Amino acid sequence: MSKRDYYEVLGVAKNASEDDIKKAYRKLAMKYHPDRNQGDAAKGAEEKFKEVKEAYEMLSDAQKRAAYDQYGHAGVDPNMRGPGGPGAEGFGGFAEAFGDIFGDMFGQGRGRGGNRVYRGSDLSYAMEITLEEAAKGKDAQIRIPSWEACDTCHGSGAKPGTSAKTCGTCQGSGTVQMRQGFFSVQQTCPHCRGTGKIIPEPCMTCHGQGKVKRQKTLEVKIPAGIDDGMRIRSTGNGEPGTNGGPPGDLYIEIRIKKHDIFERDGDDLHCQVPVSFITAALGGEIEVPTLAGKAAIDIPEGTQAGKQFRLRGKGIKGVRASYPGDLYCHIVVETPVKLTEYQRKLLRELEESLKKGGAKHSPSAESWTDRLKSFFS
Ligand SMILES: [Zn+2]
Ligand SMILES: [Zn+2]
Repeated sequence: MSKRDYYEVLGVAKNASEDDIKKAYRKLAMKYHPDRNQGDAAKGAEEKFKEVKEAYEMLSDAQKRAAYDQYGHAGVDPNMRGPGGPGAEGFGGFAEAFGDIFGDMFGQGRGRGGNRVYRGSDLSYAMEITLEEAAKGKDAQIRIPSWEACDTCHGSGAKPGTSAKTCGTCQGSGTVQMRQGFFSVQQTCPHCRGTGKIIPEPCMTCHGQGKVKRQKTLEVKIPAGIDDGMRIRSTGNGEPGTNGGPPGDLYIEIRIKKHDIFERDGDDLHCQVPVSFITAALGGEIEVPTLAGKAAIDIPEGTQAGKQFRLRGKGIKGVRASYPGDLYCHIVVETPVKLTEYQRKLLRELEESLKKGGAKHSPSAESWTDRLKSFFS
């Protein structure tokens, strides 16, 4: 692949001033910033950024620029600048590259001083969803904070018309030597907090930060089967890194609202189904709810309270499960209330009739009586 002309890469004229080159570089570096180029675009942007950075490094150095003007690419070797140069592969190279541009933009020297690169903090976001949404999955939109370079100061943090000054305490190195007895300890400069620069008149918009907090909308895909307490990671959507460090991640923590009918236990669902004592005694078809709508089950004659019926596959298919869980219907036998005189009479007659039949009509009571007997004897 033939190398593009450095002036062409930056889109400036051959006689461009140092200032023009710097401006063009900032503009392009912002354009290929990783926050603005995610997913498939990120790879291309990284290549572009390396190209832009190399061009800037050559043209911003008067000696290298002169050599390049005279001999072209043969006159300068970008790989002659030690580890982390344009030849470096992987994220390390990229992060190092951004160390430079952010150092420049935030008035923190050229990135090679004492400026440490830090990864941004992770953020967490709690999202409440219904059980139905958890079972089916959901495309959600959330508003999250995002940071952009400040428009007022173009990221320098200094009030327009003023500029950052080299820190007098550390002479711009970001670190100071502290003597402790026989030892000399290097510490982060307390005056400039390691940036090497002091902003005498901070920008009013960003309070000297060089960046402002905004809101952005993020599309989140909630996978079907997600359970309470699970987290979804959105890579790179946390807080921005410091000195070009990579951003943190955003964690979306799922909370499932309490459901009126179902209780979830892993991939299984449980529900209480009230059944009249007549139906429980005679047996019959009862209607039960499922997440997919109504279903009918046949309960046998003589069904006791607390009996459970399992509906296979009517639970939830977990995120990593191959099969859905089951639905357990727990029978709650209901005692009739607000009886009329006639109904009372019928029940008394029924009771008389059952007594004549003896213990065979009440299997639980029978074993209960036996157990009581042995308990008291
Ligand atoms: Zn500002
Ligand atoms: Zn300092």
